[in-house]
Amino acid sequence: MDHQAAQERFSSYRDQELGPEETRSVEEHLQTCRACRRQYADFQETVASLGTLPPAGPPANFAEGVFERVRKRSHGRLFSQRRRGMAVPLEWLSLIMLVAVVAIYLLFRLSSPFGLFSK
Ligand SMILES: [Zn+2]
Repeated sequence: MDHQAAQERFSSYRDQELGPEETRSVEEHLQTCRACRRQYADFQETVASLGTLPPAGPPANFAEGVFERVRKRSHGRLFSQRRRGMAVPLEWLSLIMLVAVVAIYLLFRLSSPFGLFSK
């Protein structure tokens, strides 16, 4: 195995994703090649230091920024202040509609000749 082939497999070798044959080839090359040994040590160090980075998250006002852009591009049709204020009333409206449907159903059951009180 030459330098390039060995170095191309460093990542897979480190993650133990190589087959036994390739693993042995990389190990043999690392034992005999000082340059690649050094490269592999650098690679391991880099990967290890990446692991210590804090997880990256979106900026604090990311969601607000998205809402704002959508609102602008939709010319205020989406996420406008007025519609956002409607969110809670719509939930109430659906509850009222549900109660109304149940009430109408019961009304029909009671008033029909085959209703609740006729057998
Ligand atoms: Zn080498």
